[in-house]
Amino acid sequence: MPRKSPRSRRKPAPEPRLPGKSRPRAAPGRTRSSQRGAKARAARPRGAKARGTKTGAARAASAPRHAMQGARVRSGTSGRRTTLRSRPAGRARARFRPPEPARVRAILEILKTTYPDSRTALDFASPLQLLIATILSAQCTDARVNQVTPVLFARYPDAASLAAADRGELERIIQSTGFFRNKAKAILRCTADIMALHGGEVPRTLEALTALHGVGRKTANVVLGNAFGIPGVVVDTHVGRLAQRLGLTRERDPVRIEFALMEILPRETWTMFSHWLILHGRRVCVARKPRCSICPLAVHCPRIGVAASA
Ligand code: SF4
Repeated sequence: MPRKSPRSRRKPAPEPRLPGKSRPRAAPGRTRSSQRGAKARAARPRGAKARGTKTGAARAASAPRHAMQGARVRSGTSGRRTTLRSRPAGRARARFRPPEPARVRAILEILKTTYPDSRTALDFASPLQLLIATILSAQCTDARVNQVTPVLFARYPDAASLAAADRGELERIIQSTGFFRNKAKAILRCTADIMALHGGEVPRTLEALTALHGVGRKTANVVLGNAFGIPGVVVDTHVGRLAQRLGLTRERDPVRIEFALMEILPRETWTMFSHWLILHGRRVCVARKPRCSICPLAVHCPRIGVAASA
């Protein structure tokens, strides 16, 4: 008898599945693996569990929280297949309630009396100087910036001289503020924009300021609020952290926090509110372990996200 070719010994191709038709399943107990499982179960002492298996409850307890939300889990204490029931769909994330105006007023009053003489810690004599000092203050202390700016502004007193500055010399002057290459580039391009678009004068609107190279909403609001007296909410790391702890917003993005605070705060307090929170964040409500026991805001603070305090 002639030997069959390998191709002729292949299994016949399964029937093509029709859309909507479920795949045919092997009858329970007919497959080799299910027969092996049945033998093992029969050999196991009654009540003993197979290695590596967990009961439905243990599986539910050890599963990651995110995997469990809204999931359907098996009930019962044995590892056997049991009826499915809907798991209570976890507690829905509580809706954020905007703070009551009376609480906001109380917080503002306490901050105002606690930090009566707060102002920006950066030294400046003109809007341009404040703009440049704010650019330099990124990832740097205000004290360090205040050491550098007198030398910088003595050498380059206006936007025209800064725009035409030698990059290497500028970098050497601002080197101690860190990230000096990026900062030098930002200063050169920002002052070039000011010369080209505004005749050497720092613009007075948020839109025009944020259109300058290297100027974001935070820097623009610092300049508007402190150099021009135009209210603006400055959201830095302290303001963002405290706004959340105080339950003023649930937002995490600085721009969203800014808009949320603008909605609940009186406009005339926007600039000072930022100064107050920055001081409070440095002195009392520090990042790691806020000093809630000595905090004057404690009675009005829900301490959102505070795990440990001093
Ligand atoms: S009570 Fe605590 S968490 Fe709230 S503002 Fe004061 S220090 Fe920060």
